[in-house]
Amino acid sequence: MTSTLLSLSNVETFYGRIMAVRGVSLAVPEGAIVTILGSNGAGKSTILKTISGIMAPRKGTITFQDQPITGLEGADVVRRGISHVPEGREIFPFMTVQENILMGAYLRHDRDAVEREIAAWFETFPILGERARQPAGLLSGGQQQMLAIARAMMSKPSLLLMDEPSLGLSPLLTKQIFAIIGDINRRFGTTILLVEQNARQALATAHFAYVLELGRIVLEGPAAELMENADVKEFYLGLA
Ligand code: ATP
Repeated sequence: MTSTLLSLSNVETFYGRIMAVRGVSLAVPEGAIVTILGSNGAGKSTILKTISGIMAPRKGTITFQDQPITGLEGADVVRRGISHVPEGREIFPFMTVQENILMGAYLRHDRDAVEREIAAWFETFPILGERARQPAGLLSGGQQQMLAIARAMMSKPSLLLMDEPSLGLSPLLTKQIFAIIGDINRRFGTTILLVEQNARQALATAHFAYVLELGRIVLEGPAAELMENADVKEFYLGLA
């Protein structure tokens, strides 16, 4: 039986008086890839920010590995084993590629292991190895996404939160990034919670999916089932 790694119960998050997340409950099983689909402004990024401690929920509870993490600060959430790949990657453009990856290990003290892992990421993404000493701002969008993933993995997370990894990427690069996401899940056993507007790729990669509209979960189920759902087909897959 798989256990639940992360759960949200009745979470509400506000920007001032605007309620962006309206009583969201969801469960992420250990070892799974779970996706939250929804259009622009549905509240997807806000859910991830609430989990990773960038924002505090006004109501509800967040439980990770059977412990409450509701309202913990970002660094404490990272220490518990959750790493966030933010929307737009947020790499440090004037730092080198290697320095960017190293930033992901800022809470670690095992320097030799960190260096071995960086070398391993350069094998996984050879283009990052070739450009290790160049400013990260010179990388293409797809390469920056690879860098953001490698940086997030340096904290050895049990749960990786990914915000729109395909944003701004060509269809070919989008395919590559989703292949990488599946590969990380299989190779490291990392549980992944992914928010996406690209419903087709996200459903093809994920095991389980939630659909968010105006801050509320309106549908949930195994990804393969949602792919066959008439509303999902019409509104998210463009197959009316
Ligand atoms: P996107 O794909 O555009 O990032 P999203 O589903 O991730 O969409 P959120 O960014 O979580 O949506 O936004 C949810 C709601 O909160 C939207 O109505 C948005 O306008 C509002 N919102 C987001 N950030 C702020 C902010 N800093 N101040 C006020 N309102 C905000």
